[in-house]
Amino acid sequence: MPSFVVTPAVVLRSRPYGESDKIVSFFTELHGKVTGIAKGAKRSRRRFVNSLEPFSLVRLRFQERANASLAFIHACDLVRVFKSLTAHLDRIAHASYFMEITDGLVGERDENRAIFTHLTNGLSRLDEHGSSLLSLTFFELKLLALAGYQPHLGQCRRCGMGWREHRSGAWRFSLRDGGILCEGCAAFRKEVLPLSRGALGAIAALQQARGVPPDGDSFPLEALGESHLALLRFLQFQIGRELKSAPFLEAYLLP
Ligand SMILES: [Zn+2]
Repeated sequence: MPSFVVTPAVVLRSRPYGESDKIVSFFTELHGKVTGIAKGAKRSRRRFVNSLEPFSLVRLRFQERANASLAFIHACDLVRVFKSLTAHLDRIAHASYFMEITDGLVGERDENRAIFTHLTNGLSRLDEHGSSLLSLTFFELKLLALAGYQPHLGQCRRCGMGWREHRSGAWRFSLRDGGILCEGCAAFRKEVLPLSRGALGAIAALQQARGVPPDGDSFPLEALGESHLALLRFLQFQIGRELKSAPFLEAYLLP
């Protein structure tokens, strides 16, 4: 790696450190997640002009430091502020959740340009069209797939029975199995959540969609709400902790 790296990046989170520094995590286009120290960031208006606020799209200039996990952040120029994201509570809630689940699912330096694109597209849509359960569920599903945690929702993970072919019986989502279980296989399992056929259908259609969420009219809100709750639990399970942004999101789930 050259001594300096310049890359487009999204600010995932930022916290004060000591008297005048900040520790900031970015999702970069070229190097995955990068966490670094911005020396003097609380004072230097010249090097970091409002560019370390979460959800900002920036041009980051950093340097790896020998034997240190934190990179050294030289400069950070603002490329795009998603203006409406800071003006509406529901949008802040959705964007904060996008940041936290991305941060939680990916490790430092896991290079993944598709996640960078997905993240910037998600923020753009939120900025331009506002929040919706459809966009939220779409974001969660695609992120899980891109990060390597795609849930398996076509057939029972244990016996292989397909939910479309078998009209009767209730289905459960198993966090541990990363997919669905039929009624018989789920009987003695813990950590399972009910998932209706409506929710299974909505998720299957969203998994097929590329790039942008499909037309919202064909998705009942109830099915989307149920899908989101199952995915939220699955994300928490994979990340290994409660998500700080989850209660805030629940309060502003619908715009
Ligand atoms: Zn089964």
